[in-house]
Amino acid sequence: MSSIRTSVKCHCGQRVISRDVMQTGYYLRLFGPSYVYVKYRCSRCRKLGEQFIKQEEWEGGILKDSTEELAQEDKDRFENLGAIDINEVIDFHFALENLGTIDGVDPSTPTKKVKQRSSTEK
Ligand SMILES: [Zn+2]
Repeated sequence: MSSIRTSVKCHCGQRVISRDVMQTGYYLRLFGPSYVYVKYRCSRCRKLGEQFIKQEEWEGGILKDSTEELAQEDKDRFENLGAIDINEVIDFHFALENLGTIDGVDPSTPTKKVKQRSSTEK
């Protein structure tokens, strides 16, 4: 299953860019990809929202206002991927519950309590 996405979008469909972002935080894991937590206010509907973005996508400039800097092959890839859907958000919140809440994550301290086995072993 791929949950990769390459843009942050409000529920109304408006793309979130860097000037809309109010708060960010790193969510670090010992295993698997790290995520960046983003809290934003939509520039169109003015609603608050929050999403998790894979760190590699974040560092790839996911919030860049201009897509002109992207290579054409990247544009094609991004258009095919689409935005995160609510099910992915829910899945991620469940995953977080196993590790503690995002509020307890100190970006300067890598998470050390990631010791649970995969749920399939239960
Ligand atoms: Zn919106």
